[in-house]
Amino acid sequence: MGTIAPTRPLRTGADIPVLGLGTSPLRGAESTTQVRTAIEAGYRLIDTAENYHNEDAVGQGIRDSGIDRSELFLTTKFNRAWHSVDGVRQAYEASLERLGVDYVDLLLVHWPNPDQDRYVEALRGLEAVRADGGLRAIGTSNFKPAHLQRVLEETGIEPDVNQIQLSPYSTRTDSRRYHDEHQIQTESWSPLGASSDELRNDPVITAIAKAHGKSATQVVLRWHVQLGLVAIPRSGNAGRIAENIDLFDFELTESEMSTISALDRGDTEVTDSDVFGH
Ligand code: NAP
Repeated sequence: MGTIAPTRPLRTGADIPVLGLGTSPLRGAESTTQVRTAIEAGYRLIDTAENYHNEDAVGQGIRDSGIDRSELFLTTKFNRAWHSVDGVRQAYEASLERLGVDYVDLLLVHWPNPDQDRYVEALRGLEAVRADGGLRAIGTSNFKPAHLQRVLEETGIEPDVNQIQLSPYSTRTDSRRYHDEHQIQTESWSPLGASSDELRNDPVITAIAKAHGKSATQVVLRWHVQLGLVAIPRSGNAGRIAENIDLFDFELTESEMSTISALDRGDTEVTDSDVFGH
């Protein structure tokens, strides 16, 4: 058994591991092997989505690992077609069926899709499923502060988590400030800058990595964790899956944290959720 990540309490009481496994775009047998390997390496947070077309394979990986379901924090997300109170329940039940589990810990509205203007109803739907005991936490993904504020004003509902694109190149200070003011946990997708090697090869990162005897990827993920974020790096490789969670034995200094944060390029590389969604 590898490293078990510490957890952080969410606003409504559930504890979320600070590091988890991203599963997109793996599918089928590759996805099943990835999830089993990660659980064996100590991962307890698994992130999937209806849109990844891998919930069945993820569920198989969980069963293959032999882990007790109660030890896992399982997250999934639903698409725009389900942005209504009844729709969210249907999406939830369909995800349970595909995953082969009897609850998920956290369900996210995958994108706000403001063009169809139904994300407020999606939050009402999430709250209804939670009220019936079907979820330990509710959340959004790719919501801007303006979307969250509208949901709050119209319903009084605030999500436990907002999962957004975030890395040292896109540090999302405005979103993080809003989340912190509202006790919403920020979760970072593409925490390593996705498939590009640019961030992992950035001389600022590699110099800090060398100083600690750690890899560039471990330094980037440690930066997420020390900022108080939850990160969900994805790898399909057993060695890199283990490497990515082995970061609880060192600490970045305040000055190193600031140096990494200064790599920020603003929102230039962030997908605009007022325009894109599914
Ligand atoms: P990411 O985790 O930032 O980066 C993944 C890339 O990094 C892969 O090419 C992987 O290659 C490589 N990598 C991972 N560990 C490495 C290591 N130790 N050394 C060198 N290379 C390494 O990008 P992502 O997959 O886009 O984002 C992570 C997760 O976020 C997704 O899987 C998904 O679950 C979630 N996500 C959510 C949304 C949303 O809208 N909510 C959108 C996109 C993604 P190898 O596989 O070859 O190791």
